[in-house]
Amino acid sequence: MPRLQPSFLRAKVLRQPFATLKRQKKAYTKSIGVEIMVPRVGKTKALALVSGGLDSALAVKLIVDQGIDVEAVNFVSPFCLCGKDGCGASEVAKSINIPLKTISVGEEYLRIVRNPRFGYGKNMNPCIDCRIFMLKKTKKYAEETGASFIITGEVLGQRPMSQHGRALNVIEQEAGLKGMILRPLSARLLPMTEAEKRGLVNRQALLAIEGRSRKKQIGLAEEMKVTGYSCPGGGCLLTYKEFASKLKDLFEHKKKASLKDVQLLRVGRHFRSGKNKIIVGRNEAENKLLMRMKMPNDYFFEVQDCGSPTTLLQGPKTRKAVKTAAELTAYHSDRKQGAVSIRFGKEEFDKSIRTQIPSQKEIEPLRITPTKKQVA
Ligand code: SF4
Repeated sequence: MPRLQPSFLRAKVLRQPFATLKRQKKAYTKSIGVEIMVPRVGKTKALALVSGGLDSALAVKLIVDQGIDVEAVNFVSPFCLCGKDGCGASEVAKSINIPLKTISVGEEYLRIVRNPRFGYGKNMNPCIDCRIFMLKKTKKYAEETGASFIITGEVLGQRPMSQHGRALNVIEQEAGLKGMILRPLSARLLPMTEAEKRGLVNRQALLAIEGRSRKKQIGLAEEMKVTGYSCPGGGCLLTYKEFASKLKDLFEHKKKASLKDVQLLRVGRHFRSGKNKIIVGRNEAENKLLMRMKMPNDYFFEVQDCGSPTTLLQGPKTRKAVKTAAELTAYHSDRKQGAVSIRFGKEEFDKSIRTQIPSQKEIEPLRITPTKKQVA
């Protein structure tokens, strides 16, 4: 097909984002049967997935240093271990002087975690599905903002599940971003992306890092004066075995787990007794939190007249369940021996029960842990 560059397009490129021009080009090409060349003017824009960790910070810096406008995109999920402001992503964005877009994900993300198409990693981390999910959202944002490509801090071979060659390919393919994801830290070990082919990015100035060691990146961060990064790859609760065991238990026992259920997994000691879930606060702050987070049908327990945790009982309120919740409360209270009076109720302490303090041997099988089987 012959190629031409009409004057109306040359005039328009001064005012329009590249994505719009590409759409116009397609329509015009179709109508006249001649391929239109769209010249590039102005600064190239890219989006970068920024976690707040070292690798994504370095990846962004490498591209910003090539004179490209980069906007950071940070995802905040119910499983982020970060405090406020997205796991240090805002610190990274500030230190490199780029804008930051924060995208919060909730129920939709929870469904992916519950049923990942590509399975879990070592714990409950569905890394491949998670990357696809985030990249699809980023792609949509790129279309809205006129960004030409997406940057990630992925390093070939760094993570066993999602950062080997085949996984990177699957992720790109499934996200509908074939050739559009640039991984500056490993770019020279990977096939050329569209941005490199089109000369938007100088491939020679990109890196060829691979493997799990972060030595090179730490050295580079000093050299390139990249600061503000945190969470070196450890900002996701789904990769922690203790949390994973609690989430697994939740999914096994609740058909429709909510975000609130997930939030509750972060608080207290968790026990399972058949259909009942029992959560025992570990300190005063957690006791208060449990009271705020309790569902209308939950019972709450407290030992009378001594230092006591607050305990929540979820599930059917059978005599056995009430007795178990009372025993767990007594075990974690300041009382060390003898019979204990425990008050409990749904909205207020309007009931009470007397129980003996159980032994450690009796309570341990109930604890939700990575190694112990749940008691049915
Ligand atoms: S570690 Fe967590 S946030 Fe990172 S890709 Fe895996 S599931 Fe997603």
